[in-house]
Amino acid sequence: MGPIVIIAELEGGSVRSASYEAVEAGRALSRMEGGSLLILAPGNNVRGAADELASRTGIDVLALENEDAEAYSAGLWKSMLAEAVGPLGPRFVIVPHTARGYDFAPGLAVRLGAACITAVEALRGSEGRITLTRSAFGGKLSMDIAPSEGTVVLTVQPGAFASGDAQSASPGNVSTKRTGAIDSRYRPLGIRAVEGETASLNEAEVVVAAGRGVGKKENMGLITELASLFSRSVVAGSRAACDAGWLPYARQVGVTGKTVAPRLYIACGISGTAQHVSGMKGSQTIVAINTDPGAPIFNIAHVGVVEDLAVFIPLLTEARLKIKLLRN
Ligand SMILES: Cc1cc2nc3c(=O)[nH]c(=O)nc-3n(C[C@H](O)[C@H](O)[C@H](O)COP(=O)(O)OP(=O)(O)OC[C@H]3O[C@@H](n4cnc5c(N)ncnc54)[C@H](O)[C@@H]3O)c2cc1C
Repeated sequence: MGPIVIIAELEGGSVRSASYEAVEAGRALSRMEGGSLLILAPGNNVRGAADELASRTGIDVLALENEDAEAYSAGLWKSMLAEAVGPLGPRFVIVPHTARGYDFAPGLAVRLGAACITAVEALRGSEGRITLTRSAFGGKLSMDIAPSEGTVVLTVQPGAFASGDAQSASPGNVSTKRTGAIDSRYRPLGIRAVEGETASLNEAEVVVAAGRGVGKKENMGLITELASLFSRSVVAGSRAACDAGWLPYARQVGVTGKTVAPRLYIACGISGTAQHVSGMKGSQTIVAINTDPGAPIFNIAHVGVVEDLAVFIPLLTEARLKIKLLRN
């Protein structure tokens, strides 16, 4: 079969770190099954990013240029990538499991006539057989999957395959392929960063995070009141809390949100799915409040409280207030 292909994710001319983690997954598969590696860098004017990928990894890079690919669109990415990847006949196509990767990977697999296995967290090889592991049922179960024969498109969970900063001793070769106009049903006009909250969320020392377990918007007062008792604190949340409209998406923590590493992270009514945990597992101290003793968040929490947050947070707030008053 052809090489193991890694699809890099670029934004504004920079390489997203999840791309390097996908490269590590590719190296692991290459060690198990053999096969060379090739990185594809799709976008417009991506030569600089392609050079960076080649020099850091030592792997050959194909810069896949398309004038219309200034901003991401699933239709465009699937068409460009299917055209470039198909003739290579790869065994594995590795895509970062980001919002973008998760968006186009299944459609790309369909176009390639390939299998698709998403959110892979670990790889194992024994007796000539590769086993892929991913979470299931919100992180409560772990599932082992054996890939089929032929091409398999994998999305790999950010944070699962650590990549160092080391530069390769000898850079890979970079070549460029221009793809022509692609018939797409829609055309993205551009992507704008949301202004405002990012800096404070990234710089906060204490993050009080709300999840679906908060129950309703009116209960967000419990979270904001608790946060207000810590200096350099901010309220954030899971995607479920943002989807419910309790918080703006700029406050979402996780694989498709922000990555934070505060001194203290208080997870309130958050189950702890892999997508959320990948954005906060670097926190120095994690406190989890959850009614379900089997919630996966307790696997990474330093302090676990099995209690209704509507009961526990007012007690915690009161205790914190007393400490503040005693100190002043
Ligand atoms: C491609 C992709 C990207 C994603 N990116 C992200 C991301 O960046 N960030 C993110 O967070 N999610 C992300 N998700 C969604 C993620 O899979 C989960 O759906 C989400 O994190 C769940 O949020 P939650 O923990 O708040 O809700 P749930 O999983 O529903 O958990 C709610 C928890 O609250 C507890 N609870 C209920 N009532 C109470 C109470 N009264 N007191 C205390 N505890 C209570 C429950 O026991 C439960 O554990 C992504 C999903 C996909 C597919």
